[in-house]
Amino acid sequence: MSNSITAVAGLDADQTRQGAAAAPVLDLAFHRDDSDYLVTQDPTVEIRRIRKNGYSLSNVKALSRRGVMWLGQTCNLRCYFCYFIDKIKNAHHPEHAFMSFEKAKELCLKVREVYGNTAIDIQGGEPSICPYIYDLIRYCNEIGLKPTLITNALWYDKPKNVEKLVSAGVFDLLISIHGIGETYDKIVGVPGGSARQMKALELLQQAGVAFRFNTTLCRETLPELRQVAETAVRFGARAVNYIAFNPFVDQSTRRPEEQIPRYSDQAKMLLPVIDYLDANEIEVNIRYMPFCVFPESHRKFVQNFQQIIYDLHEWETESELWSGGGDNRVSAAPCPPLFSIDDRLAELRPRAGGGAGEAFYVPELGPVDHFSEREYRTKEYRVLQTRFMHPYTKEKECHGCALTGICDGFHRDYAKVIGFGEAHPESGPVVHDPRHYQRHQMKVVEDQEADWAFAGASVVSPQS
Ligand code: SF4
Repeated sequence: MSNSITAVAGLDADQTRQGAAAAPVLDLAFHRDDSDYLVTQDPTVEIRRIRKNGYSLSNVKALSRRGVMWLGQTCNLRCYFCYFIDKIKNAHHPEHAFMSFEKAKELCLKVREVYGNTAIDIQGGEPSICPYIYDLIRYCNEIGLKPTLITNALWYDKPKNVEKLVSAGVFDLLISIHGIGETYDKIVGVPGGSARQMKALELLQQAGVAFRFNTTLCRETLPELRQVAETAVRFGARAVNYIAFNPFVDQSTRRPEEQIPRYSDQAKMLLPVIDYLDANEIEVNIRYMPFCVFPESHRKFVQNFQQIIYDLHEWETESELWSGGGDNRVSAAPCPPLFSIDDRLAELRPRAGGGAGEAFYVPELGPVDHFSEREYRTKEYRVLQTRFMHPYTKEKECHGCALTGICDGFHRDYAKVIGFGEAHPESGPVVHDPRHYQRHQMKVVEDQEADWAFAGASVVSPQS
């Protein structure tokens, strides 16, 4: 029996729309629903919930149901550390142009109906300059995906553009803010860029658009971390993510040593900023840095590849594998066939020495209390990702470290250029639960996600 159906949001399966493009085929062999995302809370941890306007802050743990799409690598800025800078500069690159609206809709429909996601990050390049962006935002709302734009927000320094954004129904923005004033302008290569961004923040705040910040930890940004944090407090950002500058994708051939600050210098600068944001009840995340460069008190904020699966603003692994795949980013190509996380694991396991039926074939894998089958598979993929896709390394210091089961180690290029001397292995038995520290971190749970995020959790200290 076929498990494929044909459907277009808003139409019955047997209806056709006059003159419309052929409806996408939804192969339900990989269909995911609410039950696939259920997790069991650790009964030894008290679940707290602080209610805010439109969201809560809580240490409840739920698997992200957020998809992602790359519309095309076209951008109005030229950030020197951009992972996609070669594609952005080259108008002839197959991933440069924005994909067609029909393809964008098909991709979103599959993220929703097959992979069971309830939110989507729409990124470009710069999605605000995509000609059909407001129609796409409307479409996402129609099919049950909360749309977020990952944006530099410069386009929203004009009230009329903010009005369009609001009337289309954007859920929120993830705004890249890498410094203030001249520092920002220099990093992004556009004079006056920071002034436009500040104006946009003001207009967005006035219009009631929710937003969060992304800040890349390049050398110029470090002295301005406090200013970025103060800007978050001033404009009411819900979360701030500080992201280690790692040489991924187009940066992998550059290794600009002088631009990469040392992990330990970054940690030193981040500690007071983390405390400041936390005291102001703003979620703060430090992405892709080794746990051991932070004191134990601050490790709950550190998110390696295993931890981001519990960040409701990060990408659900299985749909990301598909929507981030080559042809999904190539503007002129159709969406490629769907595939599952098991398909990907079947390719990667043998490369890591995993035999048939062998569950824990590398040191990072091991039994975890209250883990679901999906959590095991997702953790396994994230561990293999740091070996084969975004290469990290663990050197002799890591081999006896208690955190080797939940830590990515050092980025391989960072270790090659700068070395491994900053590692401080932790003593004790090996930890395999990615939530080991993170289960104490307060993170944003939007009201639209509360039903499933808090399912089965008993909140022992509610506050309102
Ligand atoms: S595994 Fe390695 S990098 Fe990670 S915390 Fe331990 S010593 Fe540090």
